[in-house]
Amino acid sequence: MAHPMTEFERNKLIKNLLAKYNFLNHGVIGKSHCERNIEFLSLGNFENSILWACAFHGMEWLTSLVILKFLENICNRIKLKNKIFGIDIEKNLKNRGLVIIPCVNPDGVEISLNGYKSANEFQNLVKKASNIHTFSWQANAAGVDINHNFDAGWNELKKLEKENNILEPSPTRFGGKKPESEPETKALVDFCRKNKFLYAIAFHSQGEEIYWKYGKNIPENSYRLAKLFSITSGYKLSSPEGLAVGGGFKDWFITEFNRPAFTIEIGVGKNPLPISQLYPIYNKIYKMLLSSLLI
Ligand SMILES: [Zn+2]
Repeated sequence: MAHPMTEFERNKLIKNLLAKYNFLNHGVIGKSHCERNIEFLSLGNFENSILWACAFHGMEWLTSLVILKFLENICNRIKLKNKIFGIDIEKNLKNRGLVIIPCVNPDGVEISLNGYKSANEFQNLVKKASNIHTFSWQANAAGVDINHNFDAGWNELKKLEKENNILEPSPTRFGGKKPESEPETKALVDFCRKNKFLYAIAFHSQGEEIYWKYGKNIPENSYRLAKLFSITSGYKLSSPEGLAVGGGFKDWFITEFNRPAFTIEIGVGKNPLPISQLYPIYNKIYKMLLSSLLI
């Protein structure tokens, strides 16, 4: 059986959702190095919405699947006019919408699942940087870690990379030559600047943790939301250390907009988390995702 999060299968899943639920909207925010579409799906009031983004890292495709399953569940409830825990989701979404980017790094996911040949004209680079062991590939096709390529604390991050001897395109943690150098980063940054989301959640794996701070500036409501997400999921609140500090989407979003942003690390175990973790994770974070739709 084909893996459910290859580009082909993910597109099929998204197409099926769009065919089944005519109130679900869809668009493309940009293209990856290998010309794969970076798509978004949205429900409800786009003008006043929150953003969820998944699969920044190649091995973390389970984040896409969990969020797409949740989206399917919500769409189905709307179609059937079902309430969830007595809440009219459709009415809520009319006031405040949800925008989802199922896969920020489609090349990285493809490389991690299907090997260096998925990197098209970048395959020599990927082959060399990974030593053909692409299973644990996290970066994009150019060997840049997208979640180290955002413009937040750039100089400190570069210093840390040097200290850790990460000097060139790598399977993980190389931030690139300059902030926003990568098409995937640029697409996301432009999309956020244009749409001014109320807050953003970046889904990663793993660790069952919620990161909610960056630097000294704590936007209003950050802690309240983080606490709510923690209570509804059992995930713990954490602060990043070392090379996990700076350059990330959450860090940039907080700095740029002075609005809350979170990194949520789903599941526990070793990346890539096995597909058998889909429903255990889904069940554990269902109420958290629902609370994010409402607050
Ligand atoms: Zn990650």
